[in-house]
This record gives sequence, structure tokens and C-alpha cells, in this order.
Amino acid sequence: MPTPVRTRFAPSPTGYLHVGGARTALFSWLFARKNGGQFILRVEDTDEARNTEEARNAIFSGLRWLGLDWDEGHEADGDCGPYFQSERQDIYTRWFQKLQDTGRVYEDDGAWRFRFERKPITMHDLVCGEVTIDYTDASNTPDMVVRRSDGSFVFHFVNVVDDLEMKMTHVIRGEDHLMNTPKHLQLIEALGETPPAYAHIPLIMNADGSKMSKRDKGAAVHEYPERGFLPAAVVNFIALLGWSPKDDSELFPLSELIDRFSLEGINRSPSRFDWDKSMWLNQQHLLKLTPQAFAEAALPYVRSAGLDPTDQFPAIAASVQEKVQLLAEVPEAIRFYLREGVEFDPAALEKLAGNESAPTLLASLATSFRALPDWSSPKDAIAATATAAGAKPGQLMFPLRVALSGKTGGPDLDAILTILGRDESIRRIEQTVSTLQNA
Ligand code: GLU
Repeated sequence: MPTPVRTRFAPSPTGYLHVGGARTALFSWLFARKNGGQFILRVEDTDEARNTEEARNAIFSGLRWLGLDWDEGHEADGDCGPYFQSERQDIYTRWFQKLQDTGRVYEDDGAWRFRFERKPITMHDLVCGEVTIDYTDASNTPDMVVRRSDGSFVFHFVNVVDDLEMKMTHVIRGEDHLMNTPKHLQLIEALGETPPAYAHIPLIMNADGSKMSKRDKGAAVHEYPERGFLPAAVVNFIALLGWSPKDDSELFPLSELIDRFSLEGINRSPSRFDWDKSMWLNQQHLLKLTPQAFAEAALPYVRSAGLDPTDQFPAIAASVQEKVQLLAEVPEAIRFYLREGVEFDPAALEKLAGNESAPTLLASLATSFRALPDWSSPKDAIAATATAAGAKPGQLMFPLRVALSGKTGGPDLDAILTILGRDESIRRIEQTVSTLQNA
């Protein structure tokens, strides 16, 4: 039986979870899930001065929101714990002893240096190909400190020990660690162990080609829920930062991403972060929801905007499903339904005021609406009113839209009429007529 795949995400909790970290986690997670393997979350929190509990929690909640569950780590089982480096000092000391026993470390000013083998080290990265660092000349590759004079161990050492202890088969991480890997291979060889396979993924750039930093727009994962993104859309978007399928498709539910993901599909060149595309993808995911699921997803945004959703809310939400890119846009898009009467967007009112036939047409429409036997097909009255006035139904649509919603654009008129009902529709039309007449 082949060794089961084990991958990990090994964040240092020094800030919030950012898109680059989330992508590393996602690729490792996808690779594990695709191969029926295990995904481990290991927190690299040895830098006590910089690590905060808040940052740790931001990582957990960010991963959970994205749906990237871990098989071993914080609040999960696992035989290789503890999964916080700050709790693994004994393990590091034990492995350090091996280096001492084989004479591969020596003391230097209270610190301990690891003696590199003076030879070229070539790694075969699954994404970047062959990378060689030549250690022959000690003047440009001096022996590295692995244990500081205060007894603490450096990143390279604990990172390597943990990958061995936790039986990683594949290390998938950012390209910023590519040049560290030959050092890691030196350590692994000295410890008499077999290295995992490595895959280093290219950097993420801003749209203008500068390196994306933690402060750039879209960098913080916790801002995505606030802005009204669906987790599935963010996962989809992040997957496309550095990975592409063999064809041109772009819209993937999570299950399909797992099916299609491969390390061969990871691009060699840096990816560009495109905010507009993230919104477009979110919209595509929103459109795929059933109207009911859309309404449920939108509800918290509506509530936190202080709107009181009526029992008509499912229909109200459904009417704007095709109109928004982000769930946070829903409250503004539906606000006009929920207030008493109409409040005009000044530009819409101005446009309507320039339409001389509007007051008369709207007034006779109100009369026709009142005369309808029921409210099953108000559109018929629109056509009849326009024809009777020698106008085209289209000429009445715009005034009616402004009258009902106060805006120049928005949901389908049929939906608005149905949701507002006869009385409220007539009230808004009459309000509009008198506003126009008094203007
Ligand atoms: N703690 C390291 C980082 O956040 C992890 C490096 C690795 O994945 O090996 O950059």
C-alpha cells in the first residue's frame, strides 16, 4: 500500500489570516482531500513576542469559514501532537541531541551551529523544478545557527523536525521558503531521515504588479464575510490564484475543485490579485444558489443593516438575486420595499421630471390598477393604459419604476408590483404624481 498522503498548513500567528496563507492552506488541503490523505494544522508559534492569541483564533476561524477542516491539530485528534510549536520543546531537544551525537553541531558564542556538508544540494521541487545551492564554499554559505544561546531553536530546525515527526509526505508552501529548502534537506540528511516532497507556490501580486502585502485590499480573509462573499466563492477565487485547470473553466464548487486539483496545475509565474474578478466570481456563486438559500445567506446582512425583514422577505431577496455581486449590497437593493411610500433618488426624480407625459400616464395607470378584478397580472393594465393614451408600454415602464422604487434601476417590475401589492403600488404612484405636479 502506498504511504497515505499527509500535508500541513503551518502558519505563524503574527497577524490575521491573509490570502497568501489561505491559499497555502487551500492547496495543501485540496491535495490531501483529493488523495484521501490527512491535512494537519500546526501552529508555528515559537516567536512569543510576536504571536498573539487573537492571531491564532483568526487563523482557526478563517480556515473554518472557508471550510478547510483539519484532521489533526487544535481541537482535533491526532497522534503527533502537541500541534503548537510552543509546546514541543522536549521533542526539539531530543532531535537536537541526535545532531550532537553525530557531531553535526558545535558551540559558537553560546549558540549552536549546524555544520553544513560542503557539497551542492539539489532539490526537485514539484512546481519549481530543480533548484541547487552549492555549499562547497563556506564563505557564502556559513554554518547556520540552529539553537540560540538562550536555548531556543530557530525556525529551520523546528520546521524540519515537525515535518519529520508529523510524517509529512508533501510540503506545500509559499515560494518565499524555496531557498530555505536546501538547508532543510541538509538537516534531514544529517538526521538520517527521508525528506518529504516539496511544492513551492508562486507569490501573489497586486493588479499593478507590486507584491501583495497584508494591508492591501482583499488581503485579509476576515474581511470577506463582512463584505458579503460566500466561502465557496472565496475558495474558488483563491484556488485560481496560482492554479489553473486544463481548460478555461473558472467556476468551481468545492467538490469539483477537489476532483480537478493537481500540483501540475500550479503555475510557475506569480499570480495577480484581481478584485473585480473576485466580485464577479462571488456573483456567479450567488446566482447558483436557490432563491431560498440566497435569502438565508442575505438575511444576516439585512438584519445588521437595521432592516426588519417582513414575511415577504424570501420574495424580496429573490428579486435582487441577479442584481448584486456581494451579499452586503442586498440591504441597499431592497430598502425601497420596506419603507412607507417612495423616497426618490434625486437623479431618478430629475430624469422623470423631464418626461412631460409621465404624470398623466401614471395617474391613469393608478386608475386602471384600481379597476383590476385582482392583482394576478398588473402588467395587463400597463399595456392597456399605454395603448389608450397612444403610447407604447415601454414609455410607461420607466416612470413606473421610479414611482415604485425611487430609482432608475432595480428588480424586475413584475416582482416589485407583486411584492408591494395593489394598495402600496397605487399609493406610491399617486405620491409620485403629486411630487411631479408640485415640483
Ligand atoms: N511558519 C512558516 C510560515 O508561516 C511556515 C513555513 C512552512 O510552511 O514550512 O511561513
